[in-house]
Amino acid sequence: MASYDITVRGAGVMGLSVAYVCARRGARVQVVDPNGPASGASGGIVGALAPHTPENWNPKKAFQFDSLMMSGDFWQGVEVTSGLPTGYARTGRIQPIADDHALGLAQARAETSKTLWQGRATWTIEDAGDWAPLSPSGEIIHDTLSARLMPRQATLSLAAAVTALGGSVVPDAPDSGAVLWATGVTDLDEMTAQHTRLVGAGIKGQAALIAYDARDLPQLFGDTVHIIPHHDGTTAIGSTTERDFKNTDLDALLDDVLTRAYGVAPMLRDAPVIERWAGVRPRARSRAPMIGHHPFRTGHFIANGGFKIGFGMAPKLAEVMADLILEGRDAIPDGFEATASL
Ligand SMILES: Cc1cc2nc3c(=O)[nH]c(=O)nc-3n(C[C@H](O)[C@H](O)[C@H](O)COP(=O)(O)OP(=O)(O)OC[C@H]3O[C@@H](n4cnc5c(N)ncnc54)[C@H](O)[C@@H]3O)c2cc1C
Repeated sequence: MASYDITVRGAGVMGLSVAYVCARRGARVQVVDPNGPASGASGGIVGALAPHTPENWNPKKAFQFDSLMMSGDFWQGVEVTSGLPTGYARTGRIQPIADDHALGLAQARAETSKTLWQGRATWTIEDAGDWAPLSPSGEIIHDTLSARLMPRQATLSLAAAVTALGGSVVPDAPDSGAVLWATGVTDLDEMTAQHTRLVGAGIKGQAALIAYDARDLPQLFGDTVHIIPHHDGTTAIGSTTERDFKNTDLDALLDDVLTRAYGVAPMLRDAPVIERWAGVRPRARSRAPMIGHHPFRTGHFIANGGFKIGFGMAPKLAEVMADLILEGRDAIPDGFEATASL
């Protein structure tokens, strides 16, 4: 029987990115998932890697900023190792400015971004161009920190990269070495069943992919809808946020999202919808990632709670988890420890 340094349970972006970083550092890694890579939330189509607003800085925002800054090298390394695309590009983001109040906030954030983003990305107010025609004020926020990738392809690329580094990705295998649980909503439900109160829960999201080629343009965020041009000539539109749901069926709530997207960007209206997709986001009670030592499986580790920003957090989170698992070095920021959600 083969022996490994680490067994990762769950082949979504959380598990695979930790497996990939550990394999790059020379560890023998196996990833086990009965449903295969990208079969959970990570098999989606939206892929906005967008920052929090540059104000009221806290450890979560700082961690996400670092992770976004690491993303270019991280995903390029995955592509080179696997030979498969991830769809990553730092194309920026545009947000319409609704009124004077929003303009005032945007101006304040333009100032704070200069310090908080350390001159490594900008948040500026500009005239709305053709790509964001329906900005009520005629002005938009343009940030150069936001990036995008294609989640499903990025996850499959990660799995291929793990294999290329000598690791294995299999449907079933016994534990060998250290064990990391990255099983998303399944583990949140299992932990809640073992605890006296909610540890986390799934939040359903529906999104669509349309045949509109805007591949080099920034993503748009308006009327709470993300519009993400992808590298392959498609554009993603998402997503719903559904706490109460019975299944992952697609329904009229997705049509509402599309209608709002067409309001923000009317030129998308005639583009054919080529895919409708629904998934369930793993949301920890703290709303922050849940990483470190597993609170219920003694001696094991956990990487969960990616919620709406799992792909944005993955590069840094994977490094921090590799530090802990391989070297016993705990650099987990306050509030991200798994115990914060108990
Ligand atoms: C509609 C929607 C839009 C989103 N948009 C974005 C976005 O724009 N940007 C962003 O950063 N994030 C986004 N997210 C969030 C992101 O997709 C998640 O944070 C991320 O995919 C979570 O990854 P994960 O690996 O924790 O979970 P998952 O991808 O769900 O992976 C968990 C895996 O565990 C496996 N598993 C379950 N039980 C077991 C077991 N016992 N043993 C082994 N394996 C098991 C499952 O088969 C699954 O493959 C979105 C999510 C949705 C649903």
